[in-house]
Amino acid sequence: MIDSALIQRWQHVQSNMGDAQLIAVSKYTSDSNIEILLAEGHLDFGEAKPQNLRDRAQKYPLARWHMIGPLQKNKAKYIGRFAYMWHSCCNIETAKEVAKHVEGRRLPVFVQVNISDEPQKQGIQPDDIPLFLQQLALIEGLEVIGLMGMAAKDGDAKLAFSLLRQCRDDVIAQYPHVQGLCMGMSNDWRIAIEEGATMIRVGSEIFGQD
Ligand SMILES: *Cc1c(COP(=O)(O)O)cnc(C)c1O
Repeated sequence: MIDSALIQRWQHVQSNMGDAQLIAVSKYTSDSNIEILLAEGHLDFGEAKPQNLRDRAQKYPLARWHMIGPLQKNKAKYIGRFAYMWHSCCNIETAKEVAKHVEGRRLPVFVQVNISDEPQKQGIQPDDIPLFLQQLALIEGLEVIGLMGMAAKDGDAKLAFSLLRQCRDDVIAQYPHVQGLCMGMSNDWRIAIEEGATMIRVGSEIFGQD
């Protein structure tokens, strides 16, 4: 079955995001919706739970599975083995565990930074980025390629995203591979694009709320 509304929503995002890359966040959607986008040639999908990422990566091995959610050490093996990129790296012990399972490759990693000023949110503090990058650089099997962040639901997204960009600009001289800015979701990806996002993560605007 072809869902033309789904394809239209996906195309709408694609045609308004410039050169950035789109991760279609499939965490709440059905396999059949994933198959519809795959048939359109879309390959990048995001999952927030490690078991779900593993299951879908095994079911759709030609797609690229991006881990975007919180990760605990005991599930790290699924990400090391099955993720195409890991966007939510913010704990060094978990990172070491992920690296044990990458099976000879270097897994591209984004460091998640808390840019929303909400202490309960995931991510390291901006001040801790240099030390964290130094520690990650010692882990074979991972390659940090950017920073990831989320704006607060009712906060100033523009301020949050410009902070993340500033963090990236501050470290790029020392870490030339840290170029990526993964930021922006359904309600704020347009602002993220304006602030220089290289990747956006959009779920409900493409797949709907259910
Ligand atoms: C669910 C999720 C998204 C997508 O959210 P939408 O508002 O549905 O676009 C993006 N990033 C992360 C980390 C998520 O968990």
